Amino acid sequence: MAKVEASIGNHLDLPEFNVINRQESPSGDILYTVEPKEAPAKCPSCGGKLNIHKKVERKVKDLDEFGKQVGILVKGRSYICKACGETVRVDYPSLHKQMTQRLAEHIMRDTFREGTFTEVAKKYHVSTSTAKELFEERGRERWAEYRLITPTVLGIDEVHLNNAYYGVFVRVDKQNGGIIELSEKRTKQAIIEVLERMDQPENLKFVTIDMWRPYADAVHSVFPEVPVVVDHFHVIKELTRSLDSVRSETCKRISNVRERKSLKRNRFLLLSNHDSLSPKDIKFLQELFDNYPQFKIPYDLKESFRNIYSLAKSREEAMQFFHEWCDECKRLKVTAFDKFIGMVYNWQQEIFAYFDYPDLDRTNAQTESFNRSIRNVARDGRGYSFENLRTKMIFQEKTPDSTRFDFDAFLLINDDDTDDE
Ligand SMILES: [Zn+2]
Repeated sequence: MAKVEASIGNHLDLPEFNVINRQESPSGDILYTVEPKEAPAKCPSCGGKLNIHKKVERKVKDLDEFGKQVGILVKGRSYICKACGETVRVDYPSLHKQMTQRLAEHIMRDTFREGTFTEVAKKYHVSTSTAKELFEERGRERWAEYRLITPTVLGIDEVHLNNAYYGVFVRVDKQNGGIIELSEKRTKQAIIEVLERMDQPENLKFVTIDMWRPYADAVHSVFPEVPVVVDHFHVIKELTRSLDSVRSETCKRISNVRERKSLKRNRFLLLSNHDSLSPKDIKFLQELFDNYPQFKIPYDLKESFRNIYSLAKSREEAMQFFHEWCDECKRLKVTAFDKFIGMVYNWQQEIFAYFDYPDLDRTNAQTESFNRSIRNVARDGRGYSFENLRTKMIFQEKTPDSTRFDFDAFLLINDDDTDDE
């Protein structure tokens, strides 16, 4: 019990200071007045003896105490060196500018988690610009120790934020996947600049990209030996987009607003993978085909293209399936996929290279690490400068899933004390 009592009342747990007063304002804010325990022994520049120069008061914010805001008035002194004449202001490790170090640490930690600078600032009763400055300070520390190591599989993707496209470099790895670099542009030159900066380039086995030519060109120019693969989810995304254009063409011709909206709302039935639909959704999909028979054939073609990815055992087989699929589109007089087919031909080298690495289950790893990393930042990063966006993308920390208080952790720790009862 004694230990718990010690932390209530006139004890702030700031090792350099003695509390000399504690006041509470009518609104419930708390002000501590503290004094340094020790005066500095000698001049930090020359080692000479010090004279007290004058009293210095410093106002410092601290973490809340029992839900109340806490301020600390530090009654310190500045000194003058007898030998060199320099004025000496004492630096206390437990203080950070206008706040305690522990408050600064909390703010820094939170700015690297989910949430905007404004949200963090509100939580700790500081200004948004203070939260941002602390984020930038911690960011500079992180960058100083960061090494851009080439992964075995590198994914290059992009994110559209604040009306700009950024090139995103992902380490494709189920366990340790994540964003490793962000470039301000996604031009060939910008991508080359990042690729050339990467440490241990010998690690690289292959690169996965979406269908953006500058990515492929940049990789070929820096790593001419490394295969470039267009990942299957990028291909399916384009395929699905083509199918959705059939749906939106139909929508345009529907005059009934409610019907039009309902079709738009239910487009996921068409666009989702059939095997991920629930039995209920499959029933709805059937009803959709009853009402709009024109969707049925394009839909089946979408699904049969997807099957290429699960059935083909080699690049040759995949290409053969693809040609058969194109013939089927022609035979059924479906033109909705014409643009898509053109794209597959344009990218056939990279798209069918996918089938050269059948044992590498990398596709979902890339999507997952990419989405995980980007989800929060995309939402919170509106108005961020590019540098801050980049820092947050790369060094963001996981927000704990649960903030529920864990009593069990304490019962375990306190096992030794139960003898006293
Ligand atoms: Zn001196």
